[in-house]
Amino acid sequence: MKYLPNILFFILLSAGIGFFTFQIKKIIRYVRMGRPTDRSDRPAERWKTMALVALGQGKMVRRPLAGIMHILIYAGFFIINLEILEIILDGLLGTHRLFAPLLGEVYDFLIGSFEFLALGVLVACGVFLVRRYGGRVPRLVRSGDLKGWPSLDATIILFTEIVLMTLFLTMNAADSLLQERGAEHYVRAGAFPVSSFLHSFLQGFGENTLIFLERFCWWAHIIGVLAFLNYLPYSKHFHIILAFPNTYFSNLEPKGKLRTDENVLKEVKLMLDPSAQPEPVESGSLPSFGAKDVTDLTWKQLLDAYSCTECGRCTSECPAHLTGKLLSPRKIIMSVRDRLEELGRLRDKHGPDYKDDKTLLGHYITPEELWACTTCNACVEACPVNIDPLSVIIDLRRSLVMESSAAPAALNMMFTNIENNGAPWQFSPADRALWTTES
Ligand code: SF4
Ligand code: SF4
Repeated sequence: MKYLPNILFFILLSAGIGFFTFQIKKIIRYVRMGRPTDRSDRPAERWKTMALVALGQGKMVRRPLAGIMHILIYAGFFIINLEILEIILDGLLGTHRLFAPLLGEVYDFLIGSFEFLALGVLVACGVFLVRRYGGRVPRLVRSGDLKGWPSLDATIILFTEIVLMTLFLTMNAADSLLQERGAEHYVRAGAFPVSSFLHSFLQGFGENTLIFLERFCWWAHIIGVLAFLNYLPYSKHFHIILAFPNTYFSNLEPKGKLRTDENVLKEVKLMLDPSAQPEPVESGSLPSFGAKDVTDLTWKQLLDAYSCTECGRCTSECPAHLTGKLLSPRKIIMSVRDRLEELGRLRDKHGPDYKDDKTLLGHYITPEELWACTTCNACVEACPVNIDPLSVIIDLRRSLVMESSAAPAALNMMFTNIENNGAPWQFSPADRALWTTES
């Protein structure tokens, strides 16, 4: 019975890490449903982009209040979780504050810093809740994109972080009081500049009650951390992990340069070379142009969908959206994720080649949204994790034009002019130099 808590902790930890691994494997499987694209070039530039955008939060601080609050939560999440290592080792070995004798005064400094960060996270979560529900940030409150689960998800994340930080500070407050009272097992260790303010609430408790409180908060904190870890893959908060690979694999081409569709390129080369022989086509595998469903997008576009923070910065800068058009680049990216999850689950159940009767284009994203885009690139520029909604819009449009011949009438006229006149206008090529002559 002496080792029962250690055994229970081991089972809990194994289950938490095991289920998280299972979920990560699932997401890798889904992202691999996308087409190949090569993002292995220029590694030095990629590391630099990741360091500036993901680690340095370079784009977040363009909006200072949200940026600074976000950095607090981000730093808190990572740095306080260093303490998780000690909690895990304590849980497995049955020790208490294992690192204290090893680190000496550095340990006191670290615990004190963690407490200030925990306070910072609490303040930042409070500010974010006010911003979200105070009605002053339209992209967060008055947007149809966030109705239902996305809104609930954001609330769950903020309240979970508040609960985790409160448990951490309460645990420390009870621990430091027990240290002061010389309770057995509670070695003198750590500095508690924030949680000591809770002492006035706890002073009246006896030693057994304080031990119960400290143990309760310790267990609830680690269970909460493991539960939150497993919640991440279902949530927009997954960006806290995926922001790093997603920025590493950013598009490093000049802004506005469109990706060449390999199938279109092959067709054009065939047209320009009369002696070229088309590759034999296996039955049922005719080349497709553009993207109709998530499997026609690249793996990077699918990774983008899992990395989206749903912050709405893209939509708030989209000129089409701002002039009342149906388009929201955030919704485009959220639709890719929703469709990918749906198709992924179906393929898990029915096999890797399963096809249902739905597609991203039509069932999730309408042509009206796609044709509202001005291709200005503002959404790409605004995104704090380098997501590229424009590339998805372009690929879906390509499918509309080249697969379904479903371009708007104005574009069809332009296509006809290009075909007949070699220019978008309705003038004969023979008249092209007329503007040089005096009338
Ligand atoms: S590229 Fe399109 S979707 Fe993106 S901001 Fe411009 S108009 Fe909006
Ligand atoms: S695509 Fe980028 S800017 Fe738009 S909501 Fe997602 S994370 Fe925010």
